[in-house]
Amino acid sequence: MRRCPYCNVGIEGDLVKCPLCQNKLSGTGEESCYPKFEAQKKQSLYYKMQLAIVWGLLIAGIGLDFLVRLRLPGFPDLHWSLLLAMWLIGFEFGIMRQFKPGTGSAGKVTMMVIITIAMWCVTAYFFGLMKVTLELVVPVVLAATIIANFVLALIDKNRNTMVYLITGLFMGIIPSIICLFVTAKMPLAWAVCLMVSVILFAAAVVFKGRALADEFQRRFHL
Ligand SMILES: [Zn+2]
Repeated sequence: MRRCPYCNVGIEGDLVKCPLCQNKLSGTGEESCYPKFEAQKKQSLYYKMQLAIVWGLLIAGIGLDFLVRLRLPGFPDLHWSLLLAMWLIGFEFGIMRQFKPGTGSAGKVTMMVIITIAMWCVTAYFFGLMKVTLELVVPVVLAATIIANFVLALIDKNRNTMVYLITGLFMGIIPSIICLFVTAKMPLAWAVCLMVSVILFAAAVVFKGRALADEFQRRFHL
């Protein structure tokens, strides 16, 4: 039997984390006493269908680009099928993450937003859209994600308010500061993004202060 040193309880089965406080259990486990977690829907028809479509698009794209030499108007040297492949792989990665247990919504949303922004930056670079991307698109998408995290924090029933809020705060502050250091100025959209994140964080502390304090104590064993 494993034990949780924080909650001071013994946990039967083969759990690695304490079901109460999510910290690592000590000791050796035994045979699982819970039903096995089924690998979700990997075999479902929808999963297979989207996978077939993705593979089809990938192969058709590479074939048209490299064999037929079909090029986008205005971009005669651009191997567009490689950009398409990047987006398709990113899409598949996103679908796979939905099936992965143990990742909260905040983590899933934030990770996918960051990956999407990175892919969009690569795409924008090849299409000559880098300036508008860095000055407008990225801060607007980040601000939208911060607002989504704030809404999730307010309606959260799983006592994960703090995770959403800290995620939102970091997504507003860190990229804005990087932007300020790299370009030595702060475009309007970045300043708005930064203010949105700080204002919503302050608002959430006001509205959910009690829940936040409880969560802080729970997570850091105060
Ligand atoms: Zn515990």
